[in-house]
This record gives sequence, C-alpha cells and structure tokens, in this order.
Amino acid sequence: MVLGNYKSVVAARSTDNEILKGAQDGGIVTQLFAYALEEGIIDGAIVAGPSDEPWKPEPVIATSKAELLAARGTRYTLSPNISLLKEATRSYGLDRIGIVGTPCQMQAVRKAQLYPIGMRDVPDKIALAVGIFCMENFPYQGLEAMVEDHCNVKLESVKKLDIGKGKFWAYTERGAVAQIPLKVTHKYEQPGCHVCLDYVSNLADVSTGSVGAPDGWSTVFVRTKNGENAWSKAIGAGCFETKPIEEVKPGLDLVKKLATDKITKNQKTLDERATFGVGKGLRNPYL
Ligand SMILES: Cc1cc2nc3c(=O)[nH]c(=O)nc-3n(C[C@H](O)[C@H](O)[C@H](O)COP(=O)(O)OP(=O)(O)OC[C@H]3O[C@@H](n4cnc5c(N)ncnc54)[C@H](O)[C@@H]3O)c2cc1C
Ligand code: SF4
Repeated sequence: MVLGNYKSVVAARSTDNEILKGAQDGGIVTQLFAYALEEGIIDGAIVAGPSDEPWKPEPVIATSKAELLAARGTRYTLSPNISLLKEATRSYGLDRIGIVGTPCQMQAVRKAQLYPIGMRDVPDKIALAVGIFCMENFPYQGLEAMVEDHCNVKLESVKKLDIGKGKFWAYTERGAVAQIPLKVTHKYEQPGCHVCLDYVSNLADVSTGSVGAPDGWSTVFVRTKNGENAWSKAIGAGCFETKPIEEVKPGLDLVKKLATDKITKNQKTLDERATFGVGKGLRNPYL
C-alpha cells in the first residue's frame, strides 16, 4: 500500500536524445507531455519553468516542445504549479490539461476534482496528471544555503542538482562536483513536508522518479485508465525504451523501503502533534 494502486510498473527512459540531454532521469515527464501534446491528449501542460533567479522555478503552461524542454530537470524548491490550474481553463483556454507535480500537488489536483471549491470547470479538464516521487522539499533560501554555503558553489554556475545515495549533489557547468551528506540538509527542509504520507505520487495518472532504476533511467508507475491510455500509446509510438522492473537494480524493494521510511517517520510526527501542547494538540489535516 505504501506504493499506492497501480496497473503496471517498469524501468523506462525516453528514446529522444534531445530530451534526455537535460532531463533529470529518464526524461519521462518531458517525453510523455511532448507526445501527449503532439497527439492532442493534452493541449497544454503546467510545468515548473525557469525564472529570473537561478534554480527558482516559475509555474508555466507549456504548449510547445521547446517550453517543455526549458522545464527539464528537478528544482529542489517549491513550484506552486496548482496556482495555474484554474487560469489554465480561463485565459489560456485549455480543455485538456496536463500537470506535473509532487505527491502533495497530485493530492491538490484530485481534491479540486472531487471538491471543486472555487474551481469551476477544473474537474473535467484534467487530462494527464504526472506525479514525481518526493521525499522532501526546500524553501528557496534553504536551497541557496545548501548550494552556496555548504557545497561552496554559486547557484548560477550549477548545471544539475540531485539527491541520491544518501547525498545532495551539485554539478557545475564547468565540470566540478560538490556533495554534502543529507544530514546537513535536514534543517533546511520545508516543515510542512514532515506530515506528508505519500512518496511515489499515489494519486497521479502516471508517476515517476529515479529511485529503483539505474542512472539515466526512471521507475514508472502507470496507475489509472487515463495514464494507461497515454502510456501505451506513447510506447506504441516508440517514445520509450522499457525494462521489466524485476530485471533492474536496485529495483522495487528500494522504492518500497524508502516509501515505508518516509511514511513511518512522518506518521510519528503527526501522532506527536496530537499531544503537542498541555491538554491541547495541533491540527491534523487527515482527520
Ligand atoms: C522536491 C523534489 C524531491 C524529489 N525527491 C525524489 C526522491 O526522493 N526520489 C526520487 O526517485 N525522485 C525524486 N524526485 C523526482 C526526480 O528528481 C525527477 O523529478 C523525476 O524522476 C522526473 O525526472 P524526468 O527525467 O522524468 O523528468 P524531466 O523530463 O527532467 O522533467 C522534470 C519535470 O519536473 C518538473 N519539476 C521540476 N522541479 C519541480 C518542482 N519543484 N515541483 C514540481 N515540478 C517540478 C519540471 O517542470 C519538469 O516538467 C524529486 C523531485 C522534486 C521536485
Ligand atoms: S514531501 Fe510531501 S509535502 Fe513536501 S513537497 Fe514532497 S510531496 Fe509535497
């Protein structure tokens, strides 16, 4: 259950070298949206685009492959993609919305569909929700401190940021690699992440992350009918190379272990909130 409901799970990567070049992992998000745009499955996708500040994302509605390419890669800071959800159906005039986001953002999408408070027109227009795995996120100032103070690298010179193998990594344009142990990054985590009980975007149509798959590949869960429809068409069109998850290392066991660790730790935080004060607890959004 820690991995949610799903129809199938594979290791995959895009077959498009241009997408792979700047992608975080297997380029699943960018490739799936590029294909869905081309095929009319979606008419735009809400993604975390670049902004004026280095590594600070700005939500944008991508309606071309070029805009999708510009949004490749993971920004380890908040990108309020849901802020464009209603506007996508208004000034942008989208009828079939694609959206990428962290597990909490996938929850927001589903909640807006079932309980559309101030979200008229949104419920029927979500065509493809692609979720990414997420252990935790960081406010921009926290990310800045991790990269500039702890890694001793200027944010402007960074080509890629990554979390893996127990470390936070910064790769610069000129080829330097800086890394710090994850324990250094804990104090910069967004506190709201400590009550989050979803690691692999259980509520997405398709969800993907790096954990479980080899470098340059992604683990992909196909979860819903919508997701299966888009994914199988994309496979049929040759967009992805796939391998059975049982044949790759470290495989699903590691995904399961990390999901269990996250949920167990954060459930403990939630339980502690109930008795936080003397005779008084803090709010529990799940009750
Ligand atoms: C905060 C955070 C924590 C993560 N933690 C894990 C983890 O613990 N384990 C794991 O396996 N994977 C984790 N991931 C996911 C992983 O880093 C990749 O984003 C994912 O594998 C997709 O790679 P890709 O090559 O398919 O995507 P690409 O084709 O490179 O596209 C990436 C897409 O992600 C979107 N994006 C980038 N940053 C954000 C953001 N901050 N918020 C919302 N959308 C964004 C972009 O718009 C782009 O469309 C995390 C991602 C984020 C943002
Ligand atoms: S840990 Fe949870 S709350 Fe925090 S960004 Fe990731 S999905 Fe959202």
